[in-house]
Amino acid sequence: MTIFIHADNRFEQSEPVSRECPHCGAHAQLLPVSTPAYDALHAYRPHHVGIAYRCASCAQPRFVRVAVRAYEKSHIELSSNLIEVERGRERFQFSYLPPDVERIFRETLQCYSAGCYNAFASMCRRTMQICLADMGADAKLRWHDLFRDVVSIGKLDDSMTRTLESILFGADEVLPELQAGEAAVLIETIKDMVYQSYIRTAKLRAALKMRRFFAEEQDSKITTIGSRALRAESA
Ligand SMILES: [Zn+2]
Repeated sequence: MTIFIHADNRFEQSEPVSRECPHCGAHAQLLPVSTPAYDALHAYRPHHVGIAYRCASCAQPRFVRVAVRAYEKSHIELSSNLIEVERGRERFQFSYLPPDVERIFRETLQCYSAGCYNAFASMCRRTMQICLADMGADAKLRWHDLFRDVVSIGKLDDSMTRTLESILFGADEVLPELQAGEAAVLIETIKDMVYQSYIRTAKLRAALKMRRFFAEEQDSKITTIGSRALRAESA
């Protein structure tokens, strides 16, 4: 792909670009909205420029940074490597979490989205600490079972399991340094554990409560009809 800014300010992009949108989640085309001016670029000759696109699906702005390849008299050529300024946010049903857990867990996921994997690892341990404090004494064993579940379902190898276990359940030792691949496994692990512990529990309790309510209501109607029938028979 080539991108040119011509001397008459015309923006030319040889092919359409589609990316996953951090706002709506769709894999949608980026449509140029605001592009750099030829005269301003020639006057200051920056190494990088900014372009504002809009998401074809939700119309939200998408900001991109791109390197300048060449300054020519008739046009300016930009690199085809579009670097997105905004990263996609991790989605989670935060409304099911207690407020103090929600606050810490949101920040944990933000660290991951920002690509700060070691800050993310530290925040995962903090998330665990606040969840365990919130859920009481026997929670640690349950959370450990949830972790073993992820290890077995995800078929994690020994080295990965040790690294994640030390981050989540280690006491005072220094946290191991995390690479992108390990962080990717850790985020799915902790999201699943928090989901199982809070969201699954809340949804299951609500569903059971509703089923019981309707079942009891039905029982009481049957009893009423049944006792009426009995009264009619004895009369
Ligand atoms: Zn969008």
